[in-house]
Amino acid sequence: MTVLPTAGTYAARMTRSALDDDAFEHEFTRRLHAINQRVTPRRRALLGALRSFNKPVAIAELRTQLPGEALSSLYRNLEVLMRAGVVERIVTSGDFARFELAEVVAEHPHHVICEQCGAIEDIDAPHALEDVLHDTVAQVSTTSAFTITGHRLDLLGLCPACQAVQPSAVAIADTSASIISK
Ligand SMILES: [Zn+2]
Ligand SMILES: [Zn+2]
Repeated sequence: MTVLPTAGTYAARMTRSALDDDAFEHEFTRRLHAINQRVTPRRRALLGALRSFNKPVAIAELRTQLPGEALSSLYRNLEVLMRAGVVERIVTSGDFARFELAEVVAEHPHHVICEQCGAIEDIDAPHALEDVLHDTVAQVSTTSAFTITGHRLDLLGLCPACQAVQPSAVAIADTSASIISK
């Protein structure tokens, strides 16, 4: 017998909005305890910093909010928070991985990513898009053996800085399109 995923769980994840301070504290505490880890002042400060940025940040950026924090301890704490499921590591085409709060303790994130340098920002997805994705998941759930637990959607492009140093990018794209069409 095939056990289909419950659509309700997925819908709840999709409509989750930002948690207030108490709910945020409660959720990360619960998740740390679930993996036998404590809420330490440094971990709380790290989560607070990630929350204040409200976008994926590289380690160097993160450290500007955490004066006196040793790099080794920062990495160790990020590792624990990722295991607890409250922080996610995002890898782009850039040199540095970036970190942000996981969906369970933050808003549902979609990103725009620069293909050149890996710069990344959160974007607000229109409700209509979420509706389409929701329908797609319902459909896929009936044909796939996977239990669908979420989705990711990132848009790719060139950030303003990379556009400035590569003004011919659009022209190049046009040329290749015309070659292909021949
Ligand atoms: Zn860029
Ligand atoms: Zn979405």
